[in-house]
Amino acid sequence: MIPKTQTARCDVVVVGGGILGLCVADLMTQRGRLVTLVERSTLATAASGNTLRIVHGGFRYLQSLDISRLRESRREQNWFLDRFNESIRPIPCVLPLDGRRLRVPLIARWAARLNSVLARRLSDEKRVPSPSVMSRSEIASEFGLEISPSHGLVWYDAVIADYQQIIADLASAIRNRGGDILEHTQLIGLATPRSAATSNVNACLECKDADSITIECEDVIICVGADNAEAARNCGFDLRRDSPITAFNVVFNVAPQMRCAFAIPTERQTYFAVPRGDRVVIGTSYLHSGEEPTTADIQEVCRELQEVSNVADVPWQLTVDNVCDVDWARIAADGKSPAKSSRIIQQRVGPRGRVTFAITPKFTVARSVAQRIVDQVESQRSAKCSSSMAVR
Ligand SMILES: Cc1cc2nc3c(=O)[nH]c(=O)nc-3n(C[C@H](O)[C@H](O)[C@H](O)COP(=O)(O)OP(=O)(O)OC[C@H]3O[C@@H](n4cnc5c(N)ncnc54)[C@H](O)[C@@H]3O)c2cc1C
Repeated sequence: MIPKTQTARCDVVVVGGGILGLCVADLMTQRGRLVTLVERSTLATAASGNTLRIVHGGFRYLQSLDISRLRESRREQNWFLDRFNESIRPIPCVLPLDGRRLRVPLIARWAARLNSVLARRLSDEKRVPSPSVMSRSEIASEFGLEISPSHGLVWYDAVIADYQQIIADLASAIRNRGGDILEHTQLIGLATPRSAATSNVNACLECKDADSITIECEDVIICVGADNAEAARNCGFDLRRDSPITAFNVVFNVAPQMRCAFAIPTERQTYFAVPRGDRVVIGTSYLHSGEEPTTADIQEVCRELQEVSNVADVPWQLTVDNVCDVDWARIAADGKSPAKSSRIIQQRVGPRGRVTFAITPKFTVARSVAQRIVDQVESQRSAKCSSSMAVR
């Protein structure tokens, strides 16, 4: 079939319909820009559709005294809770204080107090209860979780109960402000601008039915997560340091008896057990290979969980026999660890115009990353407008 070719025009093409692309398109349309968002599959089916669904408030960053990340996560958690109050709710998280490393009641109490002092200093509005150290019996009666140590640290994160609703809400907000969303449409490259006098970028797209579209626009913002390097190559740029890794969660077909998430520290990492309907999801594990998790990888997670099963007297068996699903996706990384802050926003300028590549290390901070991208692109646009007016 000979492809039909159409030409269209908009201000900004956003590539990638995960949480980051949607947040960028949402903010761009709020600024009155005409946006076309393209997604090669359907919205939020890659990393954004496979998360552990925890929107954390940054309490964990106190371990490394990373106050700026703590502050950002707390602000973003508040934003998610406000904007999607029907789809996201606070969830208590329990860490058994087994006396190893920093997991002792005295240090945990100190961390909880420091967190409260910082919250007052940052004059944060409180959307979730403050962290505290609770006794084994208090945890059992409040959350239905039996832990072995005498105390546990309890803090509140937020959990996404209905991520599809969040995606649908963002998509309809974009459409209501005149934005266009094209699913089953992928960026295949950049076309040469029709006139050398205009620095407009032409995004070349291919639809599922093999039609091709060229969209003339001022900016292309690429938010394709793990596919960043591939998209860059197609646009004639080199982002070789981007080498995705696999992240996966194991879903167990066991009824959660607890009304909280539960942190399970092992020798290698801390897992989170999160109740989801009549199942328990445990994650998140990483594979540097970037490949689909194998049975051996899943067995390894089960083995680690068995090894530390004395920490909590959980009333279910986390064995391979009870595994009913594995949620996995490739995420943006440098081959070793998830996205580094220095590479979150990268711009490249070539003969076919300027392209902005962006990744988000977490679902939780997608809106904050999107805000930075939009501020940067818009300030460059207004600088360009004022310099071309000065030339005239
Ligand atoms: C197992 C797992 C658990 C996680 N748990 C959490 C958690 O609990 N909390 C948290 O905050 N974060 C978590 N994360 C991280 C979070 O999922 C990611 O940081 C976030 O979803 C990335 O969003 P994104 O929009 O950048 O990428 P994606 O969601 O991967 O979206 C990129 C999109 O681009 C599309 N695309 C690619 N190439 C093209 C092209 N050429 N043209 C058009 N479209 C294209 C893809 O189809 C895809 O839909 C987890 C990740 C995984 C995998």
